[in-house]
Amino acid sequence: MITRLYIHIPFCQRKCRYCAFVSKKGSASEIDAFVDLLMAEMRQACRKSAPLHTLDSIYLGGGTPSLLQPTQVGRILDLADQLFGLSEGAEITLETNPGTVDQSKLAGFRVAGINRLSMGVQSFDDRMLSTLGRIHTTGQATDCITAARRAGFNNIGIDLIHSLPGQTLEMWHQDLRQALELGTEHLSIYGLTIEDNTDFAERYADHDSLVDEDLSADMFETADSVLTSTGYEHYEIANYARPGFRSRHNSGYWKRDGYLGLGPGAHSFLRCSDYGIRFGNTPDLDEYATSISGGELPRRDRIELTREDALAEFMFLGLRMADGVRSSDLEREFGVSLWKQYDKTLDELVGQGLLTADNEGVRLTKRGMLLSNQVFGRFLE
Ligand code: SF4
Repeated sequence: MITRLYIHIPFCQRKCRYCAFVSKKGSASEIDAFVDLLMAEMRQACRKSAPLHTLDSIYLGGGTPSLLQPTQVGRILDLADQLFGLSEGAEITLETNPGTVDQSKLAGFRVAGINRLSMGVQSFDDRMLSTLGRIHTTGQATDCITAARRAGFNNIGIDLIHSLPGQTLEMWHQDLRQALELGTEHLSIYGLTIEDNTDFAERYADHDSLVDEDLSADMFETADSVLTSTGYEHYEIANYARPGFRSRHNSGYWKRDGYLGLGPGAHSFLRCSDYGIRFGNTPDLDEYATSISGGELPRRDRIELTREDALAEFMFLGLRMADGVRSSDLEREFGVSLWKQYDKTLDELVGQGLLTADNEGVRLTKRGMLLSNQVFGRFLE
């Protein structure tokens, strides 16, 4: 079953220094040609994939999907509706770079069917934005949120990054204060990581650890206390939402809902065998174009999950959410009790203060959220 559609737009105006996502600079004609390819892929995938069900969410990510024109977004969404159908009130998100939109373009996206914006703000400090190589200023980001409100968006999320080179705890506090003033419905908070094949990887190659781990932990805890004390729910390790505004699409990933990914580098999870099938599209745009033009889907790295794979995923994805993993859900899907399956591991993690347990199930403690990779690794042993 597939209820979610992810669409990857592989173009950016300029590469940010920390970014390892599949994206490149694209001219207007390249973007236009890509939209045609994407729509051809959608038609082919609809014919060849497992049965699809009415979509509950569509997420246009990238790259920079807000480089598309509203008419192009409208064509993509109309085709998705025509082929798969959209459920009443489906969540339709567009990742938006504040440097690529104005009031009229945002109004056009709203008319095209977008009802949620996820804005890559990253910092409210122009020095930090320049270090990251972002194309926008703080002023453009705040103007963008105001313009989005005027255009009728009442579901806006922003991304912020902490643990940046040269960033102090006070600077991070200021970022959070500014975010609170803007009052967006959703916030995603990430600590900077240095990814391979990025400018940052070269620039900071000699630094074992760019950021002091204690400072990074303080920044995580500061975000948690500032945002939860002002009414945001900390519903996933990196995500906060006003009640009723959790990201339905991303929650679907953590709950292992089936989803179809279109576009170069996009991943899919089809719930069409016992434990599901995962695969990814080629990240190479030329290879992607050749496949689609030849009538072939550009899928690679197909993995049919075993029961062990699926159980491990169920645990480490489910534990990302503050609600944690419910014993009854695991029993329904795998026919085994949580305690029977993971008895020793759970006891140890609870003993180390990384998990908390009750009759319903288990969830990460705040310390467990900070050391989540250590916890998740235990379910992969
Ligand atoms: S705008 Fe986003 S996807 Fe594009 S280079 Fe920057 S971080 Fe990467």
